[in-house]
Amino acid sequence: MFDTKMLAADDASISEAVRLLKSGEVVGMPTETVYGLGANALDENAVRKIFAAKGRPADNPLIVHISSFDMIKPLVSYIPQLAYKCAQEFWAGPLTMIMPKSDIIPEVTSGGLDTVGIRMPSHKAARAIIDRCGFPIAAPSANLSGSPSPTTAGHVFNDMNGRIPAIVDGGFSAVGVESTVISFEDDAIRILRPGFISAEELKEITPNVIIDKGVIAKLEQGAIARSPGMKYKHYAPKADITIIDGSLDAFRAYVKKHSDSDTVCMVFEPNDCDGLDVKSIIYGETDEKQAHLLFDTLRELDNIGAKKVFARCPRKSGVGLAVYNRLLRAAAFQVVTLK
Ligand code: AMP
Ligand code: MG
Repeated sequence: MFDTKMLAADDASISEAVRLLKSGEVVGMPTETVYGLGANALDENAVRKIFAAKGRPADNPLIVHISSFDMIKPLVSYIPQLAYKCAQEFWAGPLTMIMPKSDIIPEVTSGGLDTVGIRMPSHKAARAIIDRCGFPIAAPSANLSGSPSPTTAGHVFNDMNGRIPAIVDGGFSAVGVESTVISFEDDAIRILRPGFISAEELKEITPNVIIDKGVIAKLEQGAIARSPGMKYKHYAPKADITIIDGSLDAFRAYVKKHSDSDTVCMVFEPNDCDGLDVKSIIYGETDEKQAHLLFDTLRELDNIGAKKVFARCPRKSGVGLAVYNRLLRAAAFQVVTLK
């Protein structure tokens, strides 16, 4: 096995990443959401290497990343009016827009769909890499399929060492959860995956914002997912996580009754577990901090060998909805609701 090279996010390293990408290779790269596994979105063979490195199911489409609005035109057959407005308001940033694809997007990239998800990241190194490549870059999260998304180059290394030639280290991902994924229906926006751009913010573009039911509900067997990624097991650490939905007092009472020596609590603030005989791990008291730390916390649970985890429930609105959506999947939809 070979070792994956860690590159600093400086000019020389970006040149090396661009050289690899131009030669059809896959590179781990930072973005403001999470780290991505990038390859030339228009090169079928390069894109196949992404699926192989991740062990990603072939029908789960990849998001295509661009560095200027003009790059979008050859990739899609039609740009809805609402997409222009969203781009103006939220790009560069953590918003992915699904549009009908043009023929130059290979089927491997779109997972066989006739649409493509496009995003313009704001991370400086990501923008520089795409710019210097001159082609759009397909980049799913740089984790092994099923495990928590990576928010540091170290996370990527843990999953991808020996599977890809290089990783560009751009520090801790600022946002920490993947982009908001939206599609357009007449004069409405449908949220397929919540992210840092919240439903509340999208309502400023149009009041008609629909939150797809797959965002917080388990897809029924046989149902067709509007966003194929929603049907797969996700973000799962080895620990058995239960989300405890209730006040701090109710959470503490539940933990007191149901914990044992193996229990780890995933809480908002250092004193949430004061006086309780359990280990705790803190993921932040605001939606934004929770988004920033969620995946790192899920990986940390594995590092400390946690087996049974009780997690305080994030808010189900604003950026909290994105955290809740990921945590629900990490918890295999196990939620205890307390009054
Ligand atoms: P990841 O690449 O890990 O951030 O996951 C990308 C997410 O976007 C997955 O849930 C995909 O199913 C979804 N996605 C990407 N392209 C499309 C598309 N054309 N239509 C619907 N969902 C998409
Ligand atoms: Mg992913």
